[in-house]
Amino acid sequence: MRIRKIRDYLFDNRKDVQERLFVLLTVIALGGMVTAFVASLLLGENAEGILAMLFAFLVLTTAIFLGLKYDRIRLTANILTAMIIYIFFPIVFFTSGGVYGGSPIWFVFAMLFTSMLIRGRMRIVLLCSQLIVAAVCYYIGYRYPQVVIPHKELEFYMDSLASLVVVSLIMTLMITFQVYLLRRDNETVEKQKEEIDELNKAQNRFFSSMSHEIRTPINTIIGLNEMILREDVSEEVEEDAKSIQAASKMLLSLINDILDISKIQSGQMQLNPVNYSTAEMITEVASMIQIRTMEKNLIFNVSIAPDLPRGLMGDEIRIKQILINILNNAVKYTDEGSVSLSVQCESLNDKEVSVIFSVEDTGMGIKKENIPYLFNAFKRVDEDKNRHIEGTGLGLSIVKEFVDLMGGKVTVNSIYTRGSTFIVEIPQTVTDGKPIDRTDMYGKKDENPGRTYHQSFEAPDAKILVVDDTAANLMVIKKLLRETKVQLDAVSSGSEALEKTLNTHYHVIFMDHLMPEMDGIECMKRIRSQRGGSSRDAKIVALTANADQKSRQLYEKEGFDAYVLKPVTGNTLETELRKLLPKEVIEFEVKDENVLEESVSWIDNGAKKSSIRVTMSSVADMPKELSEKYNIATVPLRVKTEGGCFRDGIDMDADAILSYVAGKKKKASISPISAPEFEKFFSEILKTSNNIIHISASGKIYDTSIHGALEATEKLNNVSVVDSEQISAGQGILAIEASRMAEEGKRLDEILEKLNALKNRIRTAFLVENVDNMVDSHQINNRLARILKAFLIRPVLVMKNGKIRTGKLCLGSREHTCRSFISYALRNREFIDKRMLFITHVGVSNADVEWIKSEVEKHVHFDEVYVTKASPAIAINVGVGTFGLIFMMKD
Ligand code: ADP
Repeated sequence: MRIRKIRDYLFDNRKDVQERLFVLLTVIALGGMVTAFVASLLLGENAEGILAMLFAFLVLTTAIFLGLKYDRIRLTANILTAMIIYIFFPIVFFTSGGVYGGSPIWFVFAMLFTSMLIRGRMRIVLLCSQLIVAAVCYYIGYRYPQVVIPHKELEFYMDSLASLVVVSLIMTLMITFQVYLLRRDNETVEKQKEEIDELNKAQNRFFSSMSHEIRTPINTIIGLNEMILREDVSEEVEEDAKSIQAASKMLLSLINDILDISKIQSGQMQLNPVNYSTAEMITEVASMIQIRTMEKNLIFNVSIAPDLPRGLMGDEIRIKQILINILNNAVKYTDEGSVSLSVQCESLNDKEVSVIFSVEDTGMGIKKENIPYLFNAFKRVDEDKNRHIEGTGLGLSIVKEFVDLMGGKVTVNSIYTRGSTFIVEIPQTVTDGKPIDRTDMYGKKDENPGRTYHQSFEAPDAKILVVDDTAANLMVIKKLLRETKVQLDAVSSGSEALEKTLNTHYHVIFMDHLMPEMDGIECMKRIRSQRGGSSRDAKIVALTANADQKSRQLYEKEGFDAYVLKPVTGNTLETELRKLLPKEVIEFEVKDENVLEESVSWIDNGAKKSSIRVTMSSVADMPKELSEKYNIATVPLRVKTEGGCFRDGIDMDADAILSYVAGKKKKASISPISAPEFEKFFSEILKTSNNIIHISASGKIYDTSIHGALEATEKLNNVSVVDSEQISAGQGILAIEASRMAEEGKRLDEILEKLNALKNRIRTAFLVENVDNMVDSHQINNRLARILKAFLIRPVLVMKNGKIRTGKLCLGSREHTCRSFISYALRNREFIDKRMLFITHVGVSNADVEWIKSEVEKHVHFDEVYVTKASPAIAINVGVGTFGLIFMMKD
């Protein structure tokens, strides 16, 4: 019974492998001990050795019995291993001949045993103590040989042989058992994988067939419903029919979404890159959305960069699906205002561009806490508010999956109640590098199947054959094409079709795929090769409810001229026919409507959204001409005085604030920029730029604005906040470098990485003139200030790891201290990057500035020296007369 329990334990997959191994080993060890015990008795070994073995046997048996009974094998293993190390090993060592016995072999075994069976910190503790115990035993055995009970020669040989055999056997068994378990686990995993694959395939088969089965009846519903809408029916009937139309379309899109998601999740979604015309793709999407915006009285704007390449290669259908999903959401979640689509591109290399689609709406926006979940499948957010809006929560997750598959990225900026912007960037191969043809954008027929029907042509001489085994489908197509007056024959099987095509010359044949007896592909092939057949050159269109990519590729490969997906609408059928019918049989064509012209605008180069814009706060102390030159936007900090709150550098400059606080009569403080202020500032910039890099003053000092900026990024995905770990122009240098890299076309992540490295190369040192201000801003205490002033000591403040520290104390006259400060700041001159130096000062006279410049020149010649007044925010902290030198070290 006990043996069975042990066996069950050993082969129980739910139990931990190490615990099972431990049980196995203990059982083997017990067996080994019994053997050794018998051998010792036979050999007449000393009584101490035999007793030690007996003791170990008893301990082991009790331990394993208790461990199994209370299911505490791990604890038992830990205790036993400790006992083996601290008690058993020394006893065996000293009673069985020391190093001249089996102990060394058992020692090696104990090490392996511990490393294989013990886990976590306990393993390290036990392994280390084992080494120590062994070392101590060896030491005692060497220094005090009398404490070791020696083996006789035969005993020594026998003992080490027995130990060798037992340990080798145990190790072999242990490893064999482990290999066996591993193999068994592998087999189980393999089997499970096969089962999952099979399940996935079955699920896919189920979804495809479900899609097929549902599309067929919807085809009838949508088709016949369209016929009702074409009639002159009462208002009530029209309303009902429109509801039927909306519901069927919803059902259809749901099926498509579920199909896509199931494929994505089973890893079977593949892209199908084709050459496509950029203008046609955008027009198709835009015309479809325009109808929806018109229905909701929203303004629809499409802006396109004129340098967009004319032809691209990529999965056009999926790109359209991405855009339609996002644009549909924009319309769905916007009640008033506008929806705007902007398309522009950036060159990646000679052959590739990154196409940037940005969809902006003025709708309900998304709460910041919901933004991280937007792209999760089946997740709808803010359901209290959008309960009445139809949706499944699948759209955006499909968008994300497709964009990821294409190697692109999708981001969102949204301010709750104000609107959202979704930005999709997709790399595409350029097939025709000429700029997009503006005329291509207009004059395109709206091919949206959902649009209200407009007859587009008449062709009474056109001969059409429809082959479908479902009578309802035949009826629907017949009715839908009624207005075009084409001569239409309908048959319900392949053989009937062949009878017809033998003597009749059809221009176009619509052919169902799945039919009993002869399927559509076979029938198409037989028509094409029919001896004496009159329709061998007919255009044959696959008419199918199989929506998946594979079917589409199959139809193309088999040689169909076109492909129409059920459910069909009058517009789709007519569009297809117009493409395929010979021009001479089309009697009149309704000219294409210019549905898009009013909405499309061309982005002139100045208005093109930039990829990255750099921003900073006013404490970056950057001369205006430089921020203008590098197109860096500045958000002002606020300076709070008793008289009110002023925007740093805009409502108040440094001189004004200093004269205000002069004489310590009045107090002024800096108030950091709040998250809502940042949101406003960033949103404004994001109108003209897809990404923002915001350079913030060190988060470890007074400009705690970084918290506001970081909070704003929770809503605005496309803003990256960089903690410059700097004050003053140190941020400015980072901002200039960031802007330079952006202009060179470097990628966002690349720039961020470079900025991180650059932070440590910036050197900032200030010579503080008036320590009173430092007391006011709690940087030093009053007592220290008094000492500094009494001894004419001026502190030099430097930036280190984001913190302001005192780098040096300068003693003596102003001129002397200035000189020693400059030479201190510009030490290690051979490693200084000589491209630019910022001299930031608070109320230093022009003459003094010139003198500082000439002193600097004595040490290092900088290509550009920018002199800038410190912002009021900084001026408050350091006082008049203070100046700083800020530059970079070489890479
Ligand atoms: P749904 O079918 O619910 O629209 P999506 O995956 O397309 O599913 O979107 C997920 C959620 O994201 C929506 O439920 C909605 O709350 C929110 N959402 C998506 N786009 C917008 C938008 N333009 N404005 C506001 N909320 C949006």
